[in-house]
Amino acid sequence: MRNKAYIKKIRKNPPKLIIEIPLTQKRSSPFDEDLEWEGENIIGIIEPRGYDPRYGFAYRIDMSYKDKADQWTDLFYEWHDSIEDFKEFCEKNKIEIFEYAQCAYCKSAIYNCFTRGEKGNMCSDCEDKGKK
Ligand SMILES: [Zn+2]
Repeated sequence: MRNKAYIKKIRKNPPKLIIEIPLTQKRSSPFDEDLEWEGENIIGIIEPRGYDPRYGFAYRIDMSYKDKADQWTDLFYEWHDSIEDFKEFCEKNKIEIFEYAQCAYCKSAIYNCFTRGEKGNMCSDCEDKGKK
């Protein structure tokens, strides 16, 4: 899907490479196509992966035309400083963070529906393996 909000201005400006990403994208109502507004374009994502979580920014996929909550892309920028710095940056700049649930058994991120076992959240792989 090609969305104008994804277009980045990229320029080489030694000693830097500058990438501009729009903070907002045009949204429209599923009930009134004349109703448009500017909505958030990026979201902070945290994927737990045992002791090596992956976190950074993703583009929001506007689902308002279907009257549904936003979805998002894979990370377009992975943050390599501490997770505390990432959370602090998002909070300071009012960027919402979504943190995936973590499987209490295999410690991986859970990307869709899950059940709960005796130890806590359980991903479908662990459920399929018959863990309790
Ligand atoms: Zn698991």
